Amino acid sequence: MTDILIIGAGPAGLTAALYACRAGKSVLVLERETFGGQITYSPKVENYPGIAQMSGSEFADRLLEQVLAQGAQVELDTVTQIVPESNGFTVKTEFTEYRGKAVILATGSEHRRLGLPREDDLVGEGVSYCAVCDGAFYAGKDVAVIGGGNTALQEAVLLSESCTHVTMVQNLAVFTGEEKLLELLRQKDNVSFLTETTVMELIGTDTLQAIRLDTRGVESVLPVDGIFVAIGQVPQNEPFRALVPLTAQGYFDTDESCVTGRSGVFVAGDCRAKGVRQITTATADGAAAALAACRYIDGR
Ligand SMILES: Cc1cc2nc3c(=O)[nH]c(=O)nc-3n(C[C@H](O)[C@H](O)[C@H](O)COP(=O)(O)OP(=O)(O)OC[C@H]3O[C@@H](n4cnc5c(N)ncnc54)[C@H](O)[C@@H]3O)c2cc1C
Repeated sequence: MTDILIIGAGPAGLTAALYACRAGKSVLVLERETFGGQITYSPKVENYPGIAQMSGSEFADRLLEQVLAQGAQVELDTVTQIVPESNGFTVKTEFTEYRGKAVILATGSEHRRLGLPREDDLVGEGVSYCAVCDGAFYAGKDVAVIGGGNTALQEAVLLSESCTHVTMVQNLAVFTGEEKLLELLRQKDNVSFLTETTVMELIGTDTLQAIRLDTRGVESVLPVDGIFVAIGQVPQNEPFRALVPLTAQGYFDTDESCVTGRSGVFVAGDCRAKGVRQITTATADGAAAALAACRYIDGR
């Protein structure tokens, strides 16, 4: 039986593996898609302490290499169910099943996409889902924020400080985020608002140049250097609902201790309820979850 089974090989899961291996535990990390998680989509990371600039893929490669060197096992497989047993857990996957003494859920979350053709190709080339991550690349440029909730408004506030112009594009008739944030944006000369407007097309070959909009049936083209899509996040936690309670938004309902109400189950990274979803916060969780899991196994 493996000591710790980790679900998800993003920054949180891989950091958990690193800490658990260094504490002398046997570790298996199960990843359904890409070793490194969502950060592999980022062409440039400039806000991880100690690393001035690196692509997300390079960051992921280095972390994976570091974890493998410590002795962690990794498998490409999708976890479908976790069954608690008297002396551990059976983790069922698409292809097989594994047994472990403790489990760390580091399943992340995905930014909800617009679902437009070529959206994936333009990520990092004008399409972003995170102003904190990518806003600096658009200083002195024109951008649009797609969405109307609190996240969209916060992204717009941040972008309005460095971008030439920010256009808010909201499909509903009103913005649903906090009135205070909206008022702050209304006072800015470089922010404009479009309501009842849907993005129909991303225009540009290698990089985004404009977006085609539909406002109450009237089409228009808005030239932009970048768009920030803030229409929600999709946590990947549904298969584990029976194991750990989820918030109304679908996140694991735990604090930064990363300990859950279920003995032997820990959570880490973007999959848990938290205010800031970044590599720094994911890796911090990974360390906390791994050390908590080690203490659990050692009976402390
Ligand atoms: C385009 C983009 C740019 C970004 N830029 C930055 C940046 O510059 N700086 C920064 O700090 N942050 C950035 N972020 C955010 C950062 O990537 C995330 O905060 C971080 O990756 C969260 O790590 P995580 O390990 O919690 O989750 P994730 O990275 O989401 O990893 C979770 C992993 O779990 C896997 N998984 C989920 N369910 C299962 C299952 N059932 N079975 C097996 N595997 C499963 C997923 O496939 C995924 O690989 C960016 C995000 C994106 C999308």
